[in-house]
Amino acid sequence: MSSIFTKIINGEIPAYKVAENDKFLAFLDINPNAKGHTLCIPKQEINKIFDMEEDHYVELMKFSREVAKALETAVPCKRIGMAVVGLEVPHVHVHLIPLQEMDDMRFTKKEKLTPSEFEEVANAIKESL
Ligand code: 5GP
Repeated sequence: MSSIFTKIINGEIPAYKVAENDKFLAFLDINPNAKGHTLCIPKQEINKIFDMEEDHYVELMKFSREVAKALETAVPCKRIGMAVVGLEVPHVHVHLIPLQEMDDMRFTKKEKLTPSEFEEVANAIKESL
């Protein structure tokens, strides 16, 4: 069965997409730690990040870095935090989180955004790419 993220790639379920190329996709986390929390994923469905082929892994990091730089421009923050967890969704994803404080890296602290706030931040990131 396809992962929820493969369904997002295929347009079967909606997402606030911010960047895409032939191999990778970036979109907003639906339950963000902080406004602008973005996930960068390979389109190939791979469960664990360190099982990726080395070149593919490096390309994912390069893609994530480009998105992180746009995110830092678009969302006022002290810096962008990066994490890889994968306990909930078994499809590789790099979390990029605009940080104001250490607690923003706690995945138990969540921020509620309205659809228009999601759209606004997605557009701001796209414009900064
Ligand atoms: P992890 O697998 O790293 O523990 O966390 C998975 C992340 O994916 C969570 O932060 C969660 O909010 C996010 N997530 C889960 N399902 C969806 C979804 O359907 N759409 C989006 N945009 N994010 C999701």
